[in-house]
Amino acid sequence: MKILKTYKFRLHPDKNTLSILKQHGGNSRFLWNQLVDFSKKYNEKHKKFPTQSELQREIINIKSKNDFLKISHSQPLQINAQRLTKANFNSIKPEVIQERKLKIAKAKTPKQKVKALNLGFPKFKSKHEERDSIFYPQNFKIRKSRIFVAKIGWIPFIKHRNIVGTPLTLTINQDGNQWYFSVTCELNLKEKPKKLIQDANIVGIDVGTKTFATLSDNTQIENPRNLDKHLKKLKREQKTLSRRKLVEKNLNNKKVKISSNNRIKQKNKVRTIHRKIRNIRTDFLHKTTRHMINKYDGFILEKLNIKNMLQEGSKNLNRNICDVSWYEFGRQLEYKSMWYSKYFARTSKFSPTTKKCSQCGNLVDMELKDRTYDCPVCGNHMDRDFNASINILNEGLSKLNTIGTMGIYACGQSTVVDWVKQEKSLIGSNGLKPIVPSEASAFRQG
Ligand SMILES: [Zn+2]
Repeated sequence: MKILKTYKFRLHPDKNTLSILKQHGGNSRFLWNQLVDFSKKYNEKHKKFPTQSELQREIINIKSKNDFLKISHSQPLQINAQRLTKANFNSIKPEVIQERKLKIAKAKTPKQKVKALNLGFPKFKSKHEERDSIFYPQNFKIRKSRIFVAKIGWIPFIKHRNIVGTPLTLTINQDGNQWYFSVTCELNLKEKPKKLIQDANIVGIDVGTKTFATLSDNTQIENPRNLDKHLKKLKREQKTLSRRKLVEKNLNNKKVKISSNNRIKQKNKVRTIHRKIRNIRTDFLHKTTRHMINKYDGFILEKLNIKNMLQEGSKNLNRNICDVSWYEFGRQLEYKSMWYSKYFARTSKFSPTTKKCSQCGNLVDMELKDRTYDCPVCGNHMDRDFNASINILNEGLSKLNTIGTMGIYACGQSTVVDWVKQEKSLIGSNGLKPIVPSEASAFRQG
């Protein structure tokens, strides 16, 4: 099986290379902004977006007017046409249009209205974001601990792991005062045969805010340590940043508001904490999913409506971080499951995994604050997330079996009738004992 894998490394450019990087990143950003402007005007005039080849022609036009663009390699500049075409296309998708309409209706202040009107459309990039990128589809080399990119030259980097596979593309990214590069490689993975579902150790996973995830085999995954400490710090530094005012200056007889030195310093502080939080999260997610891939043979996750969750939780920083993590956690488990021949399924969005009793199927209304599940019918008393994870497992297993049945039947190893019998005893046979209430309450105390 051919897969794509991306590796990321930190670059260590010297002063000279750094200024070249900034120039090239700036050129790419300048061209992007020019193209966005062109595309907006084109849309106003023709009531449609320019095609990719029209944008490519516009790039040649912009290049002829701005000599400084000639120092950049043509490929990192050309890619902007492709990206903008895609971004324009995405902005007129029905779901985006609907979301935009909703936001416009909700907007109260003029500022909110402008923001709502621009929702989903390609944005101008600002220099002050310090998030420039330079993309190379070709014309780069990777040697021991340095890379070569056309028109920039050799740049050393810290090689913390080996790169496996054939490098396809390379992107240089700015993150404040640090620079990184990502290289996407194609590699061949040997496919291993999957275990039979009834022999496989499959877990259901319920994600939450209190504990990061609860598995149907009694395992709880705690939120990454140190995260709260950094979140508190972030809040404090952001408050300070909001107090640092913009200063008015005369530039070419025009009054403009610019950041004071103190504000720039404070901005960098905030950015560093953001980066730290991101690193903690990424590290935690990769380690956790790797560990789970080693331990289990399959995973059932709840289908989350991340987009809605992000909107609801956007005021709460902690919650926001969780949302992003859950999404990434599911994404990693899904592709790693594919890489390492594990089962993976998601339950449907509307299944009542929290309300349902995992023992008798009775439905009980649960509030967010209820931490334990108490069933009035069978007396089941267990942790709320634990109960949900078992429901997720059961639903996922029946889903996997419907797909699995056809495969097994085709091989002639089993008949459908046999399979139905197996399915009924499945929870007992795959190492996941049926949970009895007494065990569940013991789990609460432990
Ligand atoms: Zn019950």
